[in-house]
Parts: sequence; C-alpha cells; structure tokens
Amino acid sequence: MNNNNINPLLSRSVLPQFDKIEVCHVEPAVESLVAEAKEIFTRVENSVIQDWDNIMEPLQDINWLFERVWGPIAHLNGVKNSPELREVYEKVLPGLVEFQTGMGQSKAIYNALKNIKAGPQWVQMSNARRRSVEKRILAAEMCGVGLGEEDRKRFNEIEQKLSRLGMKFSNNILDSTKAFSLDLTEKEQIEGLTSTFLELASQSWNRANPDAGSLSTPENGPWRITIDGPGYIGFMQFAKNRELRHKVFMAGITIASSNDFDNTGMIPQIISLFQEKASLLGYRSYAHMSTAEKMSGSPDAVNNLYSQIVDPARQAAQSDINELEEFARRNGQVESLEPWDYGYWAKRMEEKILGYKDDDLRPYLPEPRILDGLFQLAEKLFDITVESADGQAPVWNSDVRYFILKNSSGTPIAAFYYDPYSRPENKRGGAWMDNCVTKCIFNGESLLPVAYICTNATPPAGNKPSLMTMNEVTTLFHEFGHALQHMLSSVDVSDVSGINGIEWDAVELASTFMENWCYHLPTLLDMARHYETGETMPEELARKIVAGKTFRVGSMVTRQILLGKFDLELFTYFPDNGTQNPVEFFHRLAREILVTKVCPEDKFPCAFAHIFAGGYTAGYYSYIWSDVLSSDAFAAFEEAGLDNEDAIKKTGIRYRDTILSLGGSKHPREVFREFRGREQNISAFLRHRNFQ
Ligand code: ZN
Repeated sequence: MNNNNINPLLSRSVLPQFDKIEVCHVEPAVESLVAEAKEIFTRVENSVIQDWDNIMEPLQDINWLFERVWGPIAHLNGVKNSPELREVYEKVLPGLVEFQTGMGQSKAIYNALKNIKAGPQWVQMSNARRRSVEKRILAAEMCGVGLGEEDRKRFNEIEQKLSRLGMKFSNNILDSTKAFSLDLTEKEQIEGLTSTFLELASQSWNRANPDAGSLSTPENGPWRITIDGPGYIGFMQFAKNRELRHKVFMAGITIASSNDFDNTGMIPQIISLFQEKASLLGYRSYAHMSTAEKMSGSPDAVNNLYSQIVDPARQAAQSDINELEEFARRNGQVESLEPWDYGYWAKRMEEKILGYKDDDLRPYLPEPRILDGLFQLAEKLFDITVESADGQAPVWNSDVRYFILKNSSGTPIAAFYYDPYSRPENKRGGAWMDNCVTKCIFNGESLLPVAYICTNATPPAGNKPSLMTMNEVTTLFHEFGHALQHMLSSVDVSDVSGINGIEWDAVELASTFMENWCYHLPTLLDMARHYETGETMPEELARKIVAGKTFRVGSMVTRQILLGKFDLELFTYFPDNGTQNPVEFFHRLAREILVTKVCPEDKFPCAFAHIFAGGYTAGYYSYIWSDVLSSDAFAAFEEAGLDNEDAIKKTGIRYRDTILSLGGSKHPREVFREFRGREQNISAFLRHRNFQ
C-alpha cells in the first residue's frame, strides 16, 4: 500500500472514511504523518521570523495532521478493536510518542515562543492566541526544556524511573487482585447475592477449573468470589454471611501490600522522584508544580476549599452512620457495625428508602425518549437544534448514529457521532467523548467541530428499544456535556478550542453540569416515559430518584476529602510533617477526617493507582473542585428560576457564550467569572448535598 491516493487515512475529506479504513492502511499512513509533521517541525525550528504565522500556525497544522490521520486510528482502536489492529497500533505508537516528546522538548521552539511573547505582536494578539503560546511555554518548562545539560539528564532519568515504577505499581495491583479467590460451595454462604452476581461467580469458577467440564451452575455452584471492582462491591453489598464479608473485605483492603506483589516500598520511592522533579524545575514541592498548571493555582487554594467542606461533610457523615447503625440494629445485627458491614447495610437501607431497583426504572427510560429529552433540553438551554443525519457520514458500526447541530437560524455549526451500546467483543468499556474534528482554520478553510460520544449502554433486545438504567442516562448526559463544550466552541486556535487546553480541574465542569438536569424533576418526568404505553414515570418514583441522589453523600464526600488530602499533603510535605511513612500518614488523616472506623490492617495507599501510577498525582482533588464549579453553575439556573422559561433561556445563552464557547482560550477562573459575575463559591455544592 504505497499509493497515498488510495489510503483513506490520508484522504483530505473532512470526516474520516470509516467505511474504507483497513488495518493495512495504518502503518503507511502513520509513516506519512510523521514524515510530514517532521518536515513542518524542522521548518518551524529553523524559522528566522518568529511570529504567530511562522511558528504557531504551522504547529496548529501539526495538530490538524495528527487529528486527521492518527485520530481515526486511535478511535478505531477503542471502538473496533481486533488483534491485527492492536498489533499495528502498538507497533507505531512509540514512534509517535517519541516525535511528540521531541516536539514538546524542543529548545528552539521554546525560545521562539518566548520571543513571540516578548515581541511587538503580543499585546494585539487575541486571548486564544496568547493562551496557546503561554500554555506551550509552560508545558515545555514542565518537560524540563529550561534545564542545563546535567539537570536535564537527571530529569529524563526520573521520568523513565517513574514510568517503570508506575507500571510495576499497577501490575502489582492487578496481580495481587487476581491472586485472591474464595470458592464457595454451600448455599448458606451465598445468601443475599444477586442472580447476576452468582452467574458471574459461577462463570469464574468454571474458567478457573477448565477440566471440571462446566460443573458449576449459577443455582448450585461452586461459586468463585473475586476482588476485582464489580466482584468486590457486589459481594460486600449483598452477602448476608458476615464472616465471609469480613474475609473478603480484608482481602480488599490489603491489595498489593505483601509477599510477591508489595507496593509498600515503592511508594516513598515514587514520591521522592516526584519531589526531585519538582525541585529541579524550581518548585517547592510536586503539589506546587501540579497545581501551577491547574485552575486552583496552588495547594493553599485547594486546602482552603477542603477547610470549608470538611466540617459540614463530617456532620452529614455522622448522621449517615448513626442512621445506618440504627437501621442495622432494627434489622437484626446484634454486634456493633464494623467496616465490613457498612456496604451491606447501606445497600439494604437504600433499597428500603428508595423502594426500587435499577431494573425497575428501565421500562421508563427507553433510549429514544432519553435522547429526545436530552436534545430538547439542549435546544431549550442553548438555542440550538440537534438533527439526525444518519447516512451523511460513514460509520464504523451499524448502530452508530450521526447528528448535526444547527444554530437558531438553521446553519450547521457542529456534528457528532453517537456510539451507544456495549460491544464487549471489540469496544472498550466505560464512556467517553473525544474530538474528531476540532474547530480551526486550516488552509483558509474554517472547519466545524465534530465529536465522538461513546457509551456502553444496554443494547436493544428483540423488538424492545435499549432500556437504560439511571446510571446510563446520567453517563449520556455527562458525555454530551463534554461534547457540547467541544461543539459550541467559538475558538479557532486548535490548542485551546473546545475542551483543549482547559485546566484539568475545570474540565469536568461542563460534563457534571449536564448531569444535574437528570435529577431536575420536570426534566426527568418529561423524558421518562414507558416504552410500551408512553405513560409518564409515576411522580412518586421520580421523586425517589431525585432524593436518592443525596443518599449517604456525606460518607462519600468525607472519603473523597480523605483521598484528596492524602494525595495533596503527601506531595506537599514528603518526607516531613509526618508523611515519612505514607501508610501511617493515611491512617492519621483517616482518623481526623472520617467519622467511621478504619481497620488497622487497611493498606489502601498500596492500591491508590490514581496518584502513584496514573495521571492524578497531586491532582486527585480535581473531582471535588469540578463538582463545586458545576454545582455553582447549576445554581445560576436555580436562582434564575427553573420554572421560568425566559430566565432559563437567558442564563443558558450566557452559559453557552462563556463556559461552552470560550473553552481553553481564557483561564477558567476568568471564564467562570464571566458566566457567574463572581468567583465560584461552595454554597451550592453544600446545599445540593443537604450539608447544612
Ligand atoms: Zn468526564
């Protein structure tokens, strides 16, 4: 395949040719991509004229090239995976990463960017352009571009060590999780467990005993209990047998903390390396370095937020646990509650209070109705229309839909693909939004933004439509929120258009904001209609769903604060202020923050991959930070009056023209201020969680 004319990945069509792309096209396309990008890059590095047109413009073109050639490949790897695709994907990836790292660390480009910032053009440049230059300068500095020879060598060494340790850390968690299993044979041991759970436990047993000829059945066992995510939670919430719960719980809190898979010793090594990296770059600590790139700006700002939330959250958590103890006592538990009882009784209490199960809601949440409801909401709030445009774009699977967004005068402004259903054989789990085309100007042509929305909802069965759970509905709203921010962008500098360039702790604002509407009674009642009869969901049921949103939220928020504070303080003070032994430090903080007991054996830090092996290092707080922003943003609509159509529309337009449209082109603090007329505060966050 040498002829570029017939390689669909290299075609200049605006939308990827998903009907034509084959695995054999990947390698030659990536080769051509890298060659072309390198050529542009070399030209930029050697450019004598250092201004926007000669430096930044070509760098944006490189973005465009990657998006057009690599974008569809990465996308297909997630939604239409195959052993062949994975093989070639893994083969070409290192070359791409190397090119991008080299680009980020280029001293010539770094100097050119600084010259642009110091040059005569700067004051007249648009916000978007200035932000994109500044963000590239900061990113290059974070990659060690400003360091001298020796320091830079050490910096790269640290990066490599961290990536090796991070990999080992995650693998230990996986291997240690896999190493535990508990086989049950007696019916009294499985009392309370759901039929779905038993089905999986029976399958697990059969897989582990291939010679037994599928001896296990969901009804008669044997059943294999595991401690991977769903296995652990399912057992802790439903197993009646308290002794077994204790046993499985102990396995869950000691993952990767002993024997062959022990992360204990690696934790101080990882933190020290992060601290050293920060100090090479002139930061007081890694927490200072991490927050410098985020909306919060400093560890102090985050601590300030925690200090306002922790007391109300603890009070709420205290009444949660009082109620839970009372409930457990009334329902037959004689012993005082221990950590392995919390999950079980909380689930019983939830069932009792809410009086429905996830599956009971499904008939009222048929996907076509939910989509209509979501689009009507977007139309009402943001003065746009969403129109089905199936057939107007090639797709990778026949279930995939294509939609076009139009403004109030009927002009198309954006589009998106929607890949709704779970396809375990070739689509990854979870839900996500990704850019297909970023709004930008390329070769004088203005490109409209296009998004991918991918979820793993229940597929339609027989002649029934897909019947969703409430969780699937909020997930769809969440991803649509991200997509709106991508699609309603008014920025055409691709570095900072849509969700690009938005600080990590602010990027979940637009997504969680949309989730709020699922729990807004009139919106919910409007879209929740029975798939056969068309009847509206009974109001009492809808009210319970809305009430369920705050069930035991105090306990959840205190846990979030614990993890966030542990992360932030560890990476601020290590090895001082009692952080020398991270596991002990975790227990000290837990005693301060939680109102419930923590087992002395708890080795949670050994399994905290988010911060020791993922991208959340000194950034775990981002979850709460974003929640505060989205609560406060939603409160603007509440203040305007949720029943007042005109006021809602006005607020919606303001939200569209600030949060959704400015994207990464301004600091999120400024964007938020433009929408809200002030900085964010926590009162709506507290009120929405009944914390007062
Ligand atoms: Zn998200």
